[in-house]
Amino acid sequence: MTALLSVEGLTTHLHTDVGVVRAVDDVSLAVAPGEAVALVGESGCGKSMTALSMMRLAPPAARIEAGRVMFKGRDLLGLSARQMRRVRGGEMGMVFQDPMTFLNPLIRIGDQVEEAISLHMPERGRAAALLTLEALRRVRIADPEQVMGYYPHQLSGGMRQRVLIAIAIACRPSLLICDEPTTALDVTIQAQIMDLLRGLRAELGSAILLITHDLGLVAEYCDRVYVMYAGRVVEEASVFDVFARPRHPYTRALLRSTLRLDRRADGFRTIAGQPPNLVHPPPGCRFHPRCPEAFARCRTDEPDLYGSVGARARCLLHAPEAA
Ligand code: SF4
Repeated sequence: MTALLSVEGLTTHLHTDVGVVRAVDDVSLAVAPGEAVALVGESGCGKSMTALSMMRLAPPAARIEAGRVMFKGRDLLGLSARQMRRVRGGEMGMVFQDPMTFLNPLIRIGDQVEEAISLHMPERGRAAALLTLEALRRVRIADPEQVMGYYPHQLSGGMRQRVLIAIAIACRPSLLICDEPTTALDVTIQAQIMDLLRGLRAELGSAILLITHDLGLVAEYCDRVYVMYAGRVVEEASVFDVFARPRHPYTRALLRSTLRLDRRADGFRTIAGQPPNLVHPPPGCRFHPRCPEAFARCRTDEPDLYGSVGARARCLLHAPEAA
């Protein structure tokens, strides 16, 4: 199937006082229409910066050094700022972690949803208000007519996140990028929001790129996974494979560091050490200082992604010569 989104060799550097941080290093990934794909890894691994670079929302210190972001046949990195504004919030919706950062505290909810609609759709006046109502109903906000007149501080955290999702889906995007959409919420609301996203995916046919560190969410809601470590994709696999037979030692370590009801507590292990400094990443495999399976070559040779597209790992244990 032709990819809806195809990121090829995306490389973003952050130019800071302490040096150049290689935050996103030659990242490639693809999302098919209607698919739910996860981008997972520890904090600071580059997953959010990958998404921000794709959407051209990276901070001023960031510079995209290389790559292409093909979305519906167009390279987003080649669009003008005006063209890009039409894509963001229109064909590509975004849901972020902290709704209060993205909702304007001084503007009523209805006006904020309607603004997204009027930026991307021809409807105005009563027609736009009806679409606003429909978007709020779709995210299962009770009494949406009343909520349209509220300010963000009058809503709970879960309700605010629903409003953010309503804004993101108001223009029926083909792709929803959700960056840790439930991290700030308690587990009950988290489940409700994820079920809502699953329902919207079925209803609207939108693909989802879920950025998360929570492997439980990945297992339940996604079809495929990209695992990132130190700015790079280190494993790409189906959800089934990543849990049943993870190829990369980092993926195995991530899985061991996740609490599971079906496993004894003594099977739980944190990942020793810290992610590397991306100003001066370690030579060879970037995971070697923390890898329990490292061997001599890992300290000198940079692993490639070995395997076939959709089932590969950046580990010398999978290099053809190791077979
Ligand atoms: Fe571990 Fe070596 Fe594989 Fe890196 S290349 S993940 S250090 S075994």
